[in-house]
Amino acid sequence: MIDNYGRNIDYLRISVTDLCNLRCVYCMPEGGVEKLRHGDILSVEEIAEISAAAASLGIKKIRLTGGEPLVRKGIMDIVRRTSRTPGVNEVALTTNGTLLAENAAALKEAGLTRVNISVDTFDPGKYKEITRGGKIGDVLAGIRAAVDAGLEPIKLNAVLMGGVNDDFIRPLIAMTDDADFRVRFIEIMPIGECADWNKERFVSIAKVLEAEPSLEYAGTDGVSKLYRKPGSKGSIGLISPISNHFCPTCNKLRVTADGKLKPCLHSAEEIQIRGLHGEELAETIRMAILSKPFKHALAGERRSRSRRGMSAIGG
Ligand code: SAM
Ligand code: SF4
Repeated sequence: MIDNYGRNIDYLRISVTDLCNLRCVYCMPEGGVEKLRHGDILSVEEIAEISAAAASLGIKKIRLTGGEPLVRKGIMDIVRRTSRTPGVNEVALTTNGTLLAENAAALKEAGLTRVNISVDTFDPGKYKEITRGGKIGDVLAGIRAAVDAGLEPIKLNAVLMGGVNDDFIRPLIAMTDDADFRVRFIEIMPIGECADWNKERFVSIAKVLEAEPSLEYAGTDGVSKLYRKPGSKGSIGLISPISNHFCPTCNKLRVTADGKLKPCLHSAEEIQIRGLHGEELAETIRMAILSKPFKHALAGERRSRSRRGMSAIGG
């Protein structure tokens, strides 16, 4: 469906849980988040119903996220139901990859098309520090399992933190040398846990081009500017929500784990859709699409107005 600014809204991100098995310093409080009661989380049936209503309005792609979607009980059913929704031609998953080794084949079997894996460093010590306890070996095993299961092309996403993982730019780019990995560097956004970090930690993705000057511009892909290292098999995407916000091409709508629609990631606006069915549900989603703002708050104020952090929205 076309919104008030001519954007075709065809992409729905659904957070299936706000819980996670990691505690990334920029995303989750060290003690985790207060667990929502089971009844406060959208059920598999509700997720299927929302997906169908959204698809009737032109949503074609669904991304399941969280928190960590692979800690959600019933994730295979959710993949199965959303991927069989008439009108939906792609169901992808964003994950930290630590539980992928044991789940990749079943996810593929359930109907998952692709997977995005978040990894901010390959250094075991640094990974443990950034994620407050995670093991990089689990992620590497997850990446291998995703390749073996055919969940390709695989996107590897890294958020850049000044003075923390600047040294990861070249190793991550090297992943594209011999395989078709789609590496993406993302500017960290001042939201939730890192809203008050000092500005040296927020580095521009221009740093990637400084670190690897051989990269050649190769066009755009949704919100990323694409580059390639000459002779490589994969690609590099640079995503700059801050230094060059991509709101004019934003095609997304988000649903939180407790059933609120967020027309914009950085806006405080949330629309309750839990408990709505049939025509009323579809009409509310339609109105949410029409209420999408032209641009997000970071573009002007450099501060998110969202009342939730990324783990509670779905990234
Ligand atoms: N747990 C899954 C994962 O880590 O991929 C899915 C949820 S996580 C919230 C989705 C994405 O949001 C991750 O790639 C994470 O790096 C990113 N993210 C979290 N906080 C962020 C922030 N403040 N700025 C930019 N990206 C952020
Ligand atoms: Fe968990 Fe993903 Fe947030 Fe890290 S970025 S704490 S893996 S939800």
